[in-house]
Amino acid sequence: MTAVHESVLDAIGGTPLFRLSRLGAGLAAPVYAKAEFLGIGGSVKDRAALSMVLAAERDGLLKPGGTIVEATSGNTGIGLAIIGAQRGYRVIVGVGDKASPEKSDILRAYGAEVVLAPTVLPLEDPAHLFNVIRRLAEEIPGAWFANQYDNPANPDAHLRTTGPEIWEQTAGRVTHFVAGVGTGGTITGTAEYLKEVSGGTVTVIGADPESSTYGGGDGSPYFVESIGHFLHPATVEDRQPEAYRTDAPDAFERVPDRESLLTARRLAREEGILAGPSSGTAVAAALRVARRLGPDDLVVVLLPDSGRSYLSKVHSDAWMRQWGFLEESEGAGGLRPLLDGAGPLVAVDAYTTVGEAARALRGAPGGIAPAVQPRTARPYGVSAMEVVGSVSREVLAAALADGTAEPDDPLGALLGPALPTVGVGQSAEEARGALGAGHPGVLVLVDGRAAGVLPRSSLGDG
Ligand code: PMP
Repeated sequence: MTAVHESVLDAIGGTPLFRLSRLGAGLAAPVYAKAEFLGIGGSVKDRAALSMVLAAERDGLLKPGGTIVEATSGNTGIGLAIIGAQRGYRVIVGVGDKASPEKSDILRAYGAEVVLAPTVLPLEDPAHLFNVIRRLAEEIPGAWFANQYDNPANPDAHLRTTGPEIWEQTAGRVTHFVAGVGTGGTITGTAEYLKEVSGGTVTVIGADPESSTYGGGDGSPYFVESIGHFLHPATVEDRQPEAYRTDAPDAFERVPDRESLLTARRLAREEGILAGPSSGTAVAAALRVARRLGPDDLVVVLLPDSGRSYLSKVHSDAWMRQWGFLEESEGAGGLRPLLDGAGPLVAVDAYTTVGEAARALRGAPGGIAPAVQPRTARPYGVSAMEVVGSVSREVLAAALADGTAEPDDPLGALLGPALPTVGVGQSAEEARGALGAGHPGVLVLVDGRAAGVLPRSSLGDG
């Protein structure tokens, strides 16, 4: 019999498990997906939102008619907006500029107020999402800052609900639990329950974007949203969320963006499960884990949210091609042959000197290069998100010749606008379209990272 609830809040949690019978075909260990996208707000974060609001009401931090303020990649905000609608709170949500536009639209549909702010900034920057939202919470009378990153009621929701559900649904047969780490609430609370109830036999694996610091990356940007830890090179003091216990995962699987995104698309096409990009990361990790296991093992992987929030991103062929994640081009043939002929990428540190930049540009195709945020090492290449402008050999030579710049001057004033970007799977015609009248070349992306520059002359005039 189908349940009858007195309000939507009573329907939070209690999600089913689905066996991944097709993606897991041929594996000895069964892989079951915990379908958090079936929740009322379409994500795992409904659980944390309800838990945090109930704790704040209990502790007198949130009073009738009060305002809930939160910084989020979207889903916690959606959970809070639903609770706010039910219980009469004003909800103000700061959403990072990397989050899909669908999530902001959903928030507004529930009547929440949305503040968009950048996150690819040093943590200390006053314009960073967290600082914008913290200030708002201080300024608004009666406001309560939910602060999911440090709120113990966030992991507690999973200790009380997600963990027990998984144990009960698998009749205690679960041996491996796989989940991404955003605030860390999900993995921390669920791991604590499963390890305790199993006498320590359940192994917990964090599914992390390859360059995220949680799993050992350098913190450079990645495209999968809502999980992992990005670290801006100019951040002075990094901080870990208090909701995350670093001993919760026994190990990490580090998953490149391409594998995450393609796995999210396979989930839809091969399993009929329309989930978001962090579900792709988690399933890619779970499949890797399951390949090493036997028939007595059972893997549960948590799918945090619905793919309906990403129809304009991972589930859009055009978006996938635009960032270089899909190479098949419709008809016209992609840019791969031109890119292969263009020579290796030359990127110039945006904070270097004019003289250094001029030296670096000697080997740059067409004498142009992207100017990028500096990093000490680049094990994962140059992310499209780190490109801040462009440099041209011609511009530097002219400035040095007429004396408007000296070799030791900072490059800053001579930076041009960022080159338009095209994915490697786009056509030469699309690249020419992106060039417009003014740009000297395009930056070609492969897997969301800068792979080379195609100067205007190399694109023909078609
Ligand atoms: N995936 C998605 C889509 C999310 O919104 C979140 C929450 N940031 C996570 C994964 C990570 O969950 P948690 O914050 O509990 O670590």
